[in-house]
Amino acid sequence: MPAKQATMHAIAAELEKLTESPLYPFRVENGYQVVVGEGSLDADIMFIGEAPGASEAKSGRPFVGASGRVLADLLAGIGLRREDVYITNVVKDRPPDNRDPRAEEITLYAPFLRRQIELIQPKVIAPLGRHALAFVLELFGAPAAGQKISDLHGQPLTVQAGYGEVTVVPLYHPAVALYNRDQRATLEADFQALKAFGHKP
Ligand code: URA
Repeated sequence: MPAKQATMHAIAAELEKLTESPLYPFRVENGYQVVVGEGSLDADIMFIGEAPGASEAKSGRPFVGASGRVLADLLAGIGLRREDVYITNVVKDRPPDNRDPRAEEITLYAPFLRRQIELIQPKVIAPLGRHALAFVLELFGAPAAGQKISDLHGQPLTVQAGYGEVTVVPLYHPAVALYNRDQRATLEADFQALKAFGHKP
């Protein structure tokens, strides 16, 4: 097995038995799966959502429900497929009732996301929604940390990762486009900022 794949398997195996997570009992009770991430380990672009919903926890795959269909359409709009990018979440288990992830849950899962970023070394990170944006800006010590998504969406920012420069493109969460046409148009426009980086692995 190629080295990158082996490392991702090791990350997945640790997440699988993360019994100390407050979300672990909810996973087991419902027969849910942990949602590690999906896509190319050589991707230039990494999308980071918030946490799995019910469809994701049932299938073990990120963004496969209604938000996932929006994300796939937005990707197609810039000539990319899911397989061309890497898609994951800040929190890898489904929170009950689709509530927001709690600070302690974000902290618990953070090292796994950090390892995924270091492994894939994406040139572009696109946080989806305010939780993922806050996490990414803080992780890289970006001067924009703490600013609102409504002020930052669609505007590429340069940050420094351990492996080199990374462009962060803050995006609204695809769920906002489900019931609001204006937000959908905003997301489509913001996705254009990703187009220049959309090389297929
Ligand atoms: N919303 C998210 O933030 N992540 C998913 O994987 C699905 C819906």
